[in-house]
Amino acid sequence: TGNAEAFAFDNSYARLPQQFFARVAPTPVAEPWLIKLNKPLAEELGLDVATLEREGAEIFSGNRLPAGADPLAMAYAGHQFGTFVPQLGDGRAILLGEVIDRNGKRRDIQLKGPGQTPFSRRGDGRAALGPVLREYIVSEAMYALGIPTTRALAAVVTGQPVYREQILPGAIVTRVAASHMRVGTFQFFAARGDMESVKVLADYAIDRHYPEVRDAERPYLAFYKAVTARQAELIARWLHVGFIHGVMNTDNMTISGETIDFGPCAFLDAYDPKKVFSSIDQIGRYAYASQPAIGQWNLARLAETLVPLFDDNQDTAVELANDALGEYGAIFQRHWLDGMRRKIGLAMSEKGDLDLLQALLTAMHQGEADFTLTFRRLCDSARDPAADAALASTFASTGAIGPWLQEWRQRLSREKATPDERATAMMAVNPAFIPRNHRIEEAIAAATEDADFSLFEALVEVTANPYTDQPQFARYQAPPSPGEEVQRTFC
Ligand code: AMP
Ligand code: MG
Ligand code: MG
Repeated sequence: TGNAEAFAFDNSYARLPQQFFARVAPTPVAEPWLIKLNKPLAEELGLDVATLEREGAEIFSGNRLPAGADPLAMAYAGHQFGTFVPQLGDGRAILLGEVIDRNGKRRDIQLKGPGQTPFSRRGDGRAALGPVLREYIVSEAMYALGIPTTRALAAVVTGQPVYREQILPGAIVTRVAASHMRVGTFQFFAARGDMESVKVLADYAIDRHYPEVRDAERPYLAFYKAVTARQAELIARWLHVGFIHGVMNTDNMTISGETIDFGPCAFLDAYDPKKVFSSIDQIGRYAYASQPAIGQWNLARLAETLVPLFDDNQDTAVELANDALGEYGAIFQRHWLDGMRRKIGLAMSEKGDLDLLQALLTAMHQGEADFTLTFRRLCDSARDPAADAALASTFASTGAIGPWLQEWRQRLSREKATPDERATAMMAVNPAFIPRNHRIEEAIAAATEDADFSLFEALVEVTANPYTDQPQFARYQAPPSPGEEVQRTFC
């Protein structure tokens, strides 16, 4: 029995039909210790921060169930690297319940790593400290960058080992999401021929995330189009900051349009459109520049589950689905181009802008230029051409960016903003700080090997203000030196 005031739960998913989930409680752990409580988020959620500070270790480890929790593991299926698995589900996650936040928005509170569930298959239901810290760091960084994402409310160590290739400290991250419905949740029911449940799920998803489509002539088609549009925008925004998700399986794509599941994810260092970090992505299916096409592939799988709801005539329904999916490319391209224009300081739109952007990316690729630093230094060059030398030094060969800068300035001459205004606008969209892979690994190593969380704390602090210069954190802005570069990420 927990503190009645910590969470005001209102658990709508638990009221759905029983085939949607399995009720299961977290498995208690030996000696939980609270690594971090995200106080601003706790406040945003309307939680009782004082209680959470006092009892966080017990609550976020699952040792003490807060009053009103109705813990469950959600059922879902999914295409993993293109192969359909009819039953996945929350094998190492338990939804404690939902709260209504200060803005009236319903949010899921979920423990990730709380022990086995009926969906665990051969897994232990646990998480190691490293991946928990990575999820905390990267999801909070994505939020600070302004990109829709699940959040991290807390991290605890369990005081118990987990057995991977090595023995590692166990940990649990508390994830907050607009919801945890995925493309794979729809696939779970569709694969069983249970269209009634698909419809119940669609109605629930509409009420929760897309109430405006209720009034459409074809609500389920409008719902599908709305999901498509949100995902197209989301993936465009990933590309703008050099984010590689790493495991874009259909079970890792939300209906809400939030980024979810920070496994072997990574940010680009040097720009390379084919870049892959994930150790489990051997054929590069989820490479940086492949993400938009994979998004569309996943959305085609979603369409397959919903198509019977689009129209009573199946030929018409399929045609409507194809048309809707066909809009994805243009929506993505519009968001991508809008964002990229802003990154290079263009407020107006001209026909040649795409070519100009592609020329920059080509120069960055050839010059092995650091993605984040190049755009941040471009802000300085927008203010004052004297900064061009610093920009040029991010390229492997000096002079590689010179001709492009000339073209760029010609294009800028047709814009209205002053250099200062332009530089300020550019700095608001080109981060100085991202959670660089080598800094994440360094923070994980210190925490895992020495129980030293100071690097984790510093990384969380600096990436909370990604668009602000923070000279005291220069080491977090610098790209990896050749020896520091992370080649592979693991989940
Ligand atoms: P992911 O690759 O993290 O998206 O997970 C894919 C599936 O594997 C999901 O159904 C997870 O719940 C499950 N899973 C991953 N790790 C574990 C684990 N340690 N124990 C049980 N299930 C797991
Ligand atoms: Mg997953
Ligand atoms: Mg995962």
